[in-house]
Amino acid sequence: MSVLKTKDTHPIIGISTSFLKITEKPFTQHQRIYVNNGYIESIIKAGGIPLLIPMSDNVTTIDELLNLTDALVLSGGHDVDPAHYGEQPHPLLGPIAPQRDKIDMHLIRKAAAAKKPILGICRGMQILNVAFGGSLYQDISVYSQESPSIHSLGAQTNAGSHEIEITPHSVLHKIFGVQRLETNSYHHQAVKMIAPGFSAVAKAKDGLIEGIAKTDDSWTIGVQWHPETMTESHPQMIKLFQALVSEAKKYKGQR
Ligand code: MN
Repeated sequence: MSVLKTKDTHPIIGISTSFLKITEKPFTQHQRIYVNNGYIESIIKAGGIPLLIPMSDNVTTIDELLNLTDALVLSGGHDVDPAHYGEQPHPLLGPIAPQRDKIDMHLIRKAAAAKKPILGICRGMQILNVAFGGSLYQDISVYSQESPSIHSLGAQTNAGSHEIEITPHSVLHKIFGVQRLETNSYHHQAVKMIAPGFSAVAKAKDGLIEGIAKTDDSWTIGVQWHPETMTESHPQMIKLFQALVSEAKKYKGQR
């Protein structure tokens, strides 16, 4: 065990990244790798050290970075390519990012094999579900014509959009200590078939799945909302990151 891996240091939380194509000159067509700052600040606030995992084609680099981590956060963003769950693209499918799908699924498989705690947020929950064999609604209007409006309100990202009902005695119930929670909502896709080995731990009033968790003893959770943008406006949201960091500490202690 190296000096940097002693048990009294903060656990390292890997975060999957996204990319932007830059339109301003002279950087036109440059690719920028990023995550929104909310993920970084929420992890720091909860006592973890964030480590951004770039979207490199170099698998050795990705694997060595993941090896440094004690937990993995899958960040939000692009739609998942429906080919991964055996569907043709629906007309309302949004932008996809095959490179992200490939790297995210690689990270999920590696992190799960190493029994690292995993937290998927929005797209992160969706790709987690797909990686383990589940499927998605490519657009919520496929689920219900009335539902899209409550899930993609144009409100501030730190504002509550709808309530969720948390499953009693589930891991989310233990984390938040409540059965009803106000969440933000700006997603247009949702979990359709839950992956084998997972169960729903939160639902919106219209029945859409807002949280999933693996039913084995791993700490593998997906949430459909964005807690990382609500930690100031809704301070209880930090509890999810504190639970992740606490699990990451346990993981680190066993390495
Ligand atoms: Mn929602």
